[in-house]
Amino acid sequence: MSDPMDVLAPEHRRLRIGDAWRDAASGVTFVVEDPATGTTVAEVADAGVVDGLAALDAASRAAAQWATTPPRRRSELLTATYRALTDRAEEVARLITLEMGKPLAEARAEVAYGAEFFRWFAEEAVRVEGRYSTAPAGGYRILTVPKPVGPCVFVTPWNFPLAMGARKIAPALAAGCTTVTKPAAQTPLTMLLLARIMEEVGVPAGVVNVVTTKRAGEVVSALLADTRTRKVSFTGSTEVGRVLLRQAADNVLRTSMELGGNAALIVCADADLDVALHGAMVAKMRNIGESCIAANRIYVEEPVREEFTKRFTERMGALVVGNGLDDGVDVGALIDEPSVAKLDDLVADAVGRGARILVGGVRPDGPGHFYPPTVLVDVPDDARMLREEIFGPVAPIISFTSDDEVIAKANDTEHGLVGYVFTRDLQRALRFTEGLETGMIGVNRGLISDPSAPFGGVKQSGIGKEGSHEGIGEYLDLTYAAIDLP
Ligand code: NAP
Repeated sequence: MSDPMDVLAPEHRRLRIGDAWRDAASGVTFVVEDPATGTTVAEVADAGVVDGLAALDAASRAAAQWATTPPRRRSELLTATYRALTDRAEEVARLITLEMGKPLAEARAEVAYGAEFFRWFAEEAVRVEGRYSTAPAGGYRILTVPKPVGPCVFVTPWNFPLAMGARKIAPALAAGCTTVTKPAAQTPLTMLLLARIMEEVGVPAGVVNVVTTKRAGEVVSALLADTRTRKVSFTGSTEVGRVLLRQAADNVLRTSMELGGNAALIVCADADLDVALHGAMVAKMRNIGESCIAANRIYVEEPVREEFTKRFTERMGALVVGNGLDDGVDVGALIDEPSVAKLDDLVADAVGRGARILVGGVRPDGPGHFYPPTVLVDVPDDARMLREEIFGPVAPIISFTSDDEVIAKANDTEHGLVGYVFTRDLQRALRFTEGLETGMIGVNRGLISDPSAPFGGVKQSGIGKEGSHEGIGEYLDLTYAAIDLP
C-alpha cells in the first residue's frame, strides 16, 4: 500500500492564500501526528496573525468577482469538486484516517457525506430567489434581493476533517461568498487537500483560503476583529463557541454555531428491538463515538432493559479495536491522550457512584490512543458522563418507566442538538418529537446527518442550520427595495 501522505505533495502542506501555497511569514511549522501510532506524519505551516490577515486580504480581493460570477458557473465548480472528491474518495479517506484515527470505512463514509454537500449546494446555487409583491396599502412595490454576505471565516474541529469544512465552504461558495478556513491543528491535512482539489478543478484564487495554525486564539480573533470579515461559522465545543460569539459581537458579525451535544437515545418497550439495537450502535459508535450527535445517554424502558442491555453489550464487546488503516477494524484510535484520559475519568467517576461495567472499561497498553467499547449500567443521575459530552466509545444505559420522566431527564441539559427515539407507536414518536428540546430527532434511526436536511442545534448546542435549503440562507443577506409605483 502507498503512503497516505503521497496525495498531498510537500508544497501543498503550506498555507493556501490567494493563488499561492506559502510558508508562514515566521517560517515556523508544527507537526501532525498519527493518533494510532503517535508518529509524526507531516509538518505544516504554523500561521500567525499576519498570515491570517493575508488570507482575509485574498478573500476580500476575490469577493466582488466571485459574487458576480454567474450562479451556473459557481454551480459547475461545486459539481466538479463533488466529482473529484468522489473519484479520489479512497485517497482522501486514507488521509482522513491517517490524521484523525477513524477506521477506513468511516473515513470513506465521511468522504461520501462531505462530497454530497458540494453536489447539494451546486444544485442550490442556481435557485437563489427574491420576492416581488405589492405593498398592502398600495402605492409601491416590495422587492427582496438576496446578496452574498461577503468574506467568511470558518473554524472547524478535528472529528470530521473534511465534512465539517465542506458543509460551510459549499453553501458559502454557492451563495457567492469567499472564505478563509482554519482547520483543527490536529487534522489540517484533509482541508489542505480539499483546497488543492478545488484549485485543480478551477475554483478561482482567493475564493478558498486555508490557514493552518497552532495559535487559533490569536489568529481567529484578529480575523473576527477585521471589518472585512462579514460572517463567522464555527463547529466545535460550546466553550469555544461562547468565546467566538463574544468576539463576533464587537464586529456585529453574522454567526453560525454548531456546538456540543449530549444526546439522549430513548428505547421504548414497544420498539422493534433489532431496529433499536442497530440504531443505538450507529448513534453511539459512528466515528468511534467522537461525534457531536453521538448517543451520550441511552435510556431504555424497564420491560426491555434486560434484553436490550444484554444484546447491546454483546455487540459492543464484539467490535475490533485497532489501527483504522487495517482491514477489519471497527474502532480506531481516539484523537489524543487527553481524550483517553477523559474517558478513564468519566468511567471511574461513574463506578465511584455505583455504576457497573459490563464490558470494556480498561484501556489497553501500548502506543496509540485507544479505548475499548464500554457499557455501564446502574449509572446514577449525578454521574459526570450523563452531564458532559463523552466523545468516545463509552455507553451508559439507564432505565426509565414513564415518557414524562424520560423527557424531563433528556431535557435536563444545556445542550439541545439531537435526540433519538425508538418506538412503533406513531403518536408516541410525535410526542417525543414535540417534547424533546433538540434541533434534530432520529425516529427509529441512529443516523440523521444528511446534506439535504437542516443540521443544527438549539439551546447551547448552537445557532443556525447547515445543509438543506436553509443552509444557503446562512450566507445571504436580503436587501429590500421599496419601489414607488402609485
Ligand atoms: P474545539 O476545541 O472547540 O475546537 C474547534 C476548533 O476551534 C479548532 O479548530 C480549534 O483550534 C479552534 N479553537 C480552539 N480554541 C479557539 C479559540 N480560543 N479561538 C478560536 N478558535 C479556537 O472543539 P474540538 O475538540 O476540535 O471538537 C469537538 C467539539 O466539536 C465537540 O464539542 C463536538 O460536539 C463539537 N462538534 C459539533 C458539531 C456540530 O455540528 N454541532 C460537529 C462536530 C463537532 P485548535 O485545533 O488549534 O485547538
